[in-house]
Amino acid sequence: MRALVFRGPWDIAVEERQDPEAGPGEVLVEVLSTGICGSDLHGYTGENGRRFPGQVMGHETVGRVAALGPEVTGIAVGALITVHPVLSCGACPACAAGLDHRCPTKRIIGVDPAISAAFAELMVVPAANVVPLPENVPVEYGALVEPLAVGHHAVERGRCGSDDTVLVVGGGPIGQACALAVRRLGVTRIAVSEPHAGRRSLLDDIGVATMDPTAAALADQAAEVLGGAPTLVIDAVGSSRSLADALAVCAAGERVVLVGMHEPRVSVSAYSVSLEERSLVGSYCYTGTHFRETAAWVGSAPPELARLIEGRVSLVDAPEAFRALANGDDGSSKVLVLPDRG
Ligand SMILES: [Zn+2]
Ligand SMILES: [Zn+2]
Repeated sequence: MRALVFRGPWDIAVEERQDPEAGPGEVLVEVLSTGICGSDLHGYTGENGRRFPGQVMGHETVGRVAALGPEVTGIAVGALITVHPVLSCGACPACAAGLDHRCPTKRIIGVDPAISAAFAELMVVPAANVVPLPENVPVEYGALVEPLAVGHHAVERGRCGSDDTVLVVGGGPIGQACALAVRRLGVTRIAVSEPHAGRRSLLDDIGVATMDPTAAALADQAAEVLGGAPTLVIDAVGSSRSLADALAVCAAGERVVLVGMHEPRVSVSAYSVSLEERSLVGSYCYTGTHFRETAAWVGSAPPELARLIEGRVSLVDAPEAFRALANGDDGSSKVLVLPDRG
C-alpha cells in the first residue's frame, strides 16, 4: 500500500509499505478520506514533539471494512465506518467509569508512532473501535466525526445548558465543532471570536455569529452580540493570548473550558480566576460515548457539515498540502486527504 510517512520536521512523503493484515479481533479498513488535524501539522513541523520519524499519522478518518480478522463478528465487509482512535485497557478505574480517554495506558491511533494510521490506503484497527455510519451519509462527513467529538466533549465538560450564553474563542475546526455542539443543545446566544476573515465567513455560512477580536474589546462585542457577558467560554486555541481573552470576557463565577492545545505552557491571570471565582476546566479528546454520540449525529447528515470541508488532496499531493497549511500559505480550515485519488 501507499502511505504518507512522517520523516522528520517539515518532511513527509508517500512511501510503499507492506499491506497490513487484520489479526484476531481486528479489522482491515480501506481508507477513503482522512482529515489533516492541527495536531498533525504541529507534529509535522516538530513543534509538539508528539510525532516521530517513520510514523504514519492520521486519526480523523472514514473508510470501508475491507476484511475481518479471526474472531470478529457483527461487522460487515464493505460497511462504511469511522474509527474511534482511542485504544484503552478496558479494565482500569477510568475505563470502568467510561472515561477511556483518561486510561493511563491508552494509545491513540494516529498519535502512537507504533501504529500505522489513516494517512494510508489501508489500516488495521481493533473491531471494538469501528463505528458504523449509515450508507446514505456523505462519505466525507465520516472524517469529521473525530474533530466534532472533541467539541461535543468540551461542551459537556463545560456543563453547557440551553440557558447559557456561550463564546468560543477561536474559529478553527475545534472552535467550529464546539459551536455546533453548543447549538445542538438548543443554545441561542452563541458567538465565536476569530481574527481571520475566511474563518468568520465559514461560521457566517453555517449560521454562527462571529466577532473579530482585533476590531474592538471582546467584552463590548459580547454585550452587543450576546446581550451580556458569556456564562461559558471555550478556549479552542490554547495560547496565553486566547486564555487571557477567555477569562477577561467570562462572567464572574462562571466557566472557562480549555480545549485548544496551541502551546504546552500558557500564563494565566491568577486574579481573573480567584478574585471573581471563575472555574477553569480542562478538556481533552472525548469519551467513547461522546465519540459514538457524535457519530450518530453526523450519521443524520446535517447539511452544514459540507461547509466545514475546504480542501481535498490526493496522497501524492498531501506533502505539499502539509507544507502550505503549516506555513500559512493555505488558510483552509479542514483539508481531507483522499488516498484513492492519485
Ligand atoms: Zn485531531
Ligand atoms: Zn484503562
